[in-house]
Amino acid sequence: MTGGAGFIGSHLCERLLQADHEVICVDNFLTSSSENIEHLMGDGHFQFRHGDITQGVDEPGPVDAVFHMASPASPADYLRLPLETLRVGSVGTWHALDLAAAKGARFLLASTSESYGDPLVHPQPESYWGHVNPVGPRSVYDEAKRFAEALTMAYRRSRGVDAKIVRIFNTFGPRMRPDDGRAIPTFIRQALRGEPITVTGDGSQTRSLCYVDDVVEGLLLMLASDHCGPVNLGNPHEVPMLELAQWIGKLTQSGSEIMLTPRPQDDPERRRPDITLARELLHWEPTTPVERGLCDTITDFRRRLAPGEFAGSG
Ligand code: NAD
Repeated sequence: MTGGAGFIGSHLCERLLQADHEVICVDNFLTSSSENIEHLMGDGHFQFRHGDITQGVDEPGPVDAVFHMASPASPADYLRLPLETLRVGSVGTWHALDLAAAKGARFLLASTSESYGDPLVHPQPESYWGHVNPVGPRSVYDEAKRFAEALTMAYRRSRGVDAKIVRIFNTFGPRMRPDDGRAIPTFIRQALRGEPITVTGDGSQTRSLCYVDDVVEGLLLMLASDHCGPVNLGNPHEVPMLELAQWIGKLTQSGSEIMLTPRPQDDPERRRPDITLARELLHWEPTTPVERGLCDTITDFRRRLAPGEFAGSG
């Protein structure tokens, strides 16, 4: 697995190990840290390779499946790392597909709802080709993933690789970085510190929020299926950002006020998956209630954020 030390990747590693698979995780900690996989290091079925997938991988042993998870994923990360994002989406995907081709392994690309850009169709079915600004700041991510999708299909068609694509929508859960700039970690961090919860625009823009365990389940089902996708994985239930901020304020019992700030450029207005295909092909849909996911994430953040950082703690 590339990017196995990241937020989703580390949950996927954990889940594969629980199912008695051998896992080789390749990661350069570009947007993560060893903390996410520390608990797996003692497992005899887990191997960690510190490496950059854009330099290729030298794997002597057999490989049954390649999960290509490596890529900065949060807007704060890919805006800070534009060239790295383009490189891992293009050259990195190329190397990951080469590995799958060489080993006769199945391949799964973790693509994104951002392939749809700022969509003009709601909810987004896989048949929608998207509405992407190719030269805007977010294009480094959107276009890298669109290229990665094209490359995946080209390897499938021309090299016969059993390559598949999932388009993941906003995912949340334990191990997100409190400073990664995405709405849920930002709101939870601010609420736990008693700082104002900052909502961009008027807070009416929506996101669909899927708990990480559900996404991991979808990735495993997709790999095992006979379908190549792309298949959307996400929660079709949309939540306006202002409502999410209020919800997190309540669950953390924070006295934080809500502060409205300017919207970033190209920030999509709405994003909601049409998961008809995932339901039909994979019999998959999210089953974790968002509130339960939020509570688990808040518990994880309370544990990881230094106690002195909480408002009123001493
Ligand atoms: P993350 O930033 O936590 O994890 C990405 C991992 O990839 C990190 O561990 C990072 O160090 C690693 N990485 C980056 N470049 C690398 C390189 N060149 N070589 C080796 N490792 C490299 O992000 P995440 O949220 O876990 O996302 C995982 C994947 O899922 C990404 O491909 C992302 O585009 C996709 N995705 C995530 C979401 C989401 O809501 N989290 C939504 C859509 C798609």
